[in-house]
Amino acid sequence: MYPITRYWYKNCPLCGHEGELFITKKESGQLYLQCAECFWACDDPAAIADSSKGYVVDIDEYMQRARAAVPTLEEIEAAGWAKYCQHEEVADGPSDFV
Ligand SMILES: [Zn+2]
Repeated sequence: MYPITRYWYKNCPLCGHEGELFITKKESGQLYLQCAECFWACDDPAAIADSSKGYVVDIDEYMQRARAAVPTLEEIEAAGWAKYCQHEEVADGPSDFV
């Protein structure tokens, strides 16, 4: 299961430098961006400058499937989101998700 590479786009509009917007996968398979610090999320990468366009995810619910919510690079490319892979980070275990 680990290590696993996670990709992130930009910093969060709510917490700035502290939070990275990771490309994350919903149970439906749809991709969205989710902040690693405050759990603000947004379905549209073009809308992240406006924090009112997003929502906050349920942290407990997310942590139950944290590993499963990491899309592969192939899934990201298939969704046309490769351009949002601006940074990458390797997670060595579940504690790297929070
Ligand atoms: Zn944030």
